Amino acid sequence: MITKLLSREECAECRLCCSFDSYDLWETPVITQQCHDRILGEFKPDQDFLDLDDHYLLKMQQEPDIDLYYCSLLDHDKGCIMGTEKPFDCRIWPLRVMDLHGMLVIVLSPVCPTVQKRPLCDIQAVAKELAPEIFAYAKAHPYAVKKYVRGYPIMLTEDK
Ligand code: SF4
Repeated sequence: MITKLLSREECAECRLCCSFDSYDLWETPVITQQCHDRILGEFKPDQDFLDLDDHYLLKMQQEPDIDLYYCSLLDHDKGCIMGTEKPFDCRIWPLRVMDLHGMLVIVLSPVCPTVQKRPLCDIQAVAKELAPEIFAYAKAHPYAVKKYVRGYPIMLTEDK
């Protein structure tokens, strides 16, 4: 969550981005080795992961009788147990970095209902401010870059 676009109170009320159905499980945060070690060492020693060789995904339990998965790091009363140390994908939410024909683009997730009410120019300004950090992360962690998904508005394209 980007605090320049979303207040902690707004996110605490919503938490849509911390729950997934089977269609959008691909949106669960990518967990780097360093993040994996911090989760086990500092936040949740019994967390299970899917090991994808160069990164991990959090194992989540499906809710009974409904196609819904809450993130395993979500405390329903307090929010993300990682606080400001949450995975990179979650820290830049609702922005995402994607690959469009070999070019990195920063896109806006259409899922976040709160940020949709912000002026587009404000969102683009934040994307521009964060672009160096986001593109550096994408280059250091290429597995974290998703293929461009149609319908995700492009806020910024990488200068080559
Ligand atoms: S890691 Fe934290 S912020 Fe990210 S989806 Fe899970 S609970 Fe939400």
